[in-house]
Amino acid sequence: MPRRGERDRFPGMATRAVHAGDPEPEVGAPVVAPIFQTSTFFNEVEPDGEVLYTRYGNNPGQVGLGRKLAALEGADGAVVVGSGMAAMSLTLLSFLGSGDHVVASRELYGGTHRLLTRDLAPLGIQTTFVPHGGRWTAALRKRTRVLLFEVPSNPTLRVVDIAPVARFARERGVAVIVDATFATPVNFRPLEHGADVVVHSATKYLGGHSDLTAGVVAGQEGVVDEVREKLKSFGPALDPHAGFLLERGLKTLPLRMGRHNENALELARWLQGQGDVQTVIHPGLEDHPDHAVATRLFDGYGGVVSFTVKGGDRRATALLEQLRLIRVAPSLGGVESLVSMPRYTSHAALTVEQRAELGIGAGFIRLSVGIEDQEDLRADLIEALRASAR
Ligand SMILES: *Cc1c(COP(=O)(O)O)cnc(C)c1O
Repeated sequence: MPRRGERDRFPGMATRAVHAGDPEPEVGAPVVAPIFQTSTFFNEVEPDGEVLYTRYGNNPGQVGLGRKLAALEGADGAVVVGSGMAAMSLTLLSFLGSGDHVVASRELYGGTHRLLTRDLAPLGIQTTFVPHGGRWTAALRKRTRVLLFEVPSNPTLRVVDIAPVARFARERGVAVIVDATFATPVNFRPLEHGADVVVHSATKYLGGHSDLTAGVVAGQEGVVDEVREKLKSFGPALDPHAGFLLERGLKTLPLRMGRHNENALELARWLQGQGDVQTVIHPGLEDHPDHAVATRLFDGYGGVVSFTVKGGDRRATALLEQLRLIRVAPSLGGVESLVSMPRYTSHAALTVEQRAELGIGAGFIRLSVGIEDQEDLRADLIEALRASAR
């Protein structure tokens, strides 16, 4: 199998990131996988194999990316699509039909929550949301087909101990789908712990430069094949040029993640020592409720730090307005540090009480720590903390 071969050929993560999925290194061939900026490909009048067509996801650039991502995840196969939500939608629709049931973590990306409640529910697909630490087993029904959660979750960075959950799900014939956008395969590979499918928004760390929108689904061949079929029908294909940018970004993923991990943990520790900072949330901190699980499962704790400031939402707003280097934007995973208040972005649709239940209290800030110099990030925060206190 060529994809398994790719894993054997390139054992190390950094080597895979650079080389897996590359075209054959023939004399005269380009070193970098070219962009096949074409919707269609010449054919025999009577094609004897599958025709190439960019919406089918079999443009050579898309295929190469699938190989690289499968190698990074330790998966049999992977498919790239036009966005993280496309990846999530196609994956869920591959497992679910009318009358089926989903058990999902309550700590979910807003878009995924919206997909389940606004768009899948009217199709006869019901979801039960379970809080972190709640009993998954009790939520299961006869027609439960999917268990869905994010590792780590947004924005409180909770970490599910996945192996026991996956073992239980397997016994019951329920598929475990993990959105590992915040972790990336550098920090955590859910398939190694019994998940059936891993989904990513490649818009975040995988692309890594805030310049593209893409999504990934990786897992066993049968699952990925069905996602490819769904891609043909629903059509959210990855544009070849965005694919080129993603492939370029992936080559430095291990390097970037090393830096994100280091920068975020250092900054989290430093924030803990600041008088006007009330709480700091990062799985690498010893006082995080899932620190032990994260330490066992992860190769790195990730680049996101959440914290609350004294003075509530007014102070947090003032702080964000005073930042000069760290900029306000509702995304994450790029080389630049970005900051947002979940109450105005990902969790705006919830009530104050609902947010409080999720651990998003007054003055809550989510910071995606980039790869800049630690001293510069601190200086920016010191100045903004000072100016926002007035
Ligand atoms: C951003 C995000 C998504 C959605 O990805 P898009 O590429 O924006 O469609 C899904 N899950 C998580 C955890 C995300 O952060």
